[in-house]
Amino acid sequence: MNIIIFGPPGAGKGTQSDFIVKKYNLLQVSTGKILRDEIKNKTNLGQKISSLMSAGSLVEDKIVNKLIEEIVSNRNNENRFIFDGYPRNLDQASNLDNLLKKYEQKINIVLKLSVSLNTIKTRISERRYVEKRPDDNEEVAIRRYETYEKSTEPVIEYYKKLNLLKVINGERPIDQINKEISGIIDTLQAWL
Ligand code: ADP
Repeated sequence: MNIIIFGPPGAGKGTQSDFIVKKYNLLQVSTGKILRDEIKNKTNLGQKISSLMSAGSLVEDKIVNKLIEEIVSNRNNENRFIFDGYPRNLDQASNLDNLLKKYEQKINIVLKLSVSLNTIKTRISERRYVEKRPDDNEEVAIRRYETYEKSTEPVIEYYKKLNLLKVINGERPIDQINKEISGIIDTLQAWL
């Protein structure tokens, strides 16, 4: 089973995918986390992307697509992906399609956590004191939200047309969202 989870910054994608990973023994593929680790470890790539990321802009497709290929091409990971933060634009979505085809897999379900801009602002201003991410200030968060609307919403539309999309109200308490997602995945597994 392969899953994609979408949601604007601060929607709770990370929290929900942590939960799904544990419960269903999946592999979390969070491009944001991978890229932040590159910066933390001061790698060449990390130095190259750090200013882009703190400004809230997307990292080049070429870089991210290559990271994803390294993960998807590993047969040990087959059919247990939850993509979180990828694909973020249509070019990345078509890259993922091609890769999955090449490795004889597919996406089984796409989850979208939907949250209003107001809630996002509040959550991010609370989170910045805990996680200390340089891109978690109000101005940059709004920029990330705008990028999400402009680049990522079309990708969600694409999966909707393929009948893979489930929209989840992300404004509710974490455990209620956990329950709804579990219900969706359990039903899907029963069909697989
Ligand atoms: P959020 O969804 O809260 O913005 P992420 O951890 O998913 O957080 O992403 C943080 C940043 O990492 C993005 O603003 C972007 O700079 C970079 N990034 C993450 N995933 C991608 C991607 N698929 N393509 C390009 N840039 C990405």
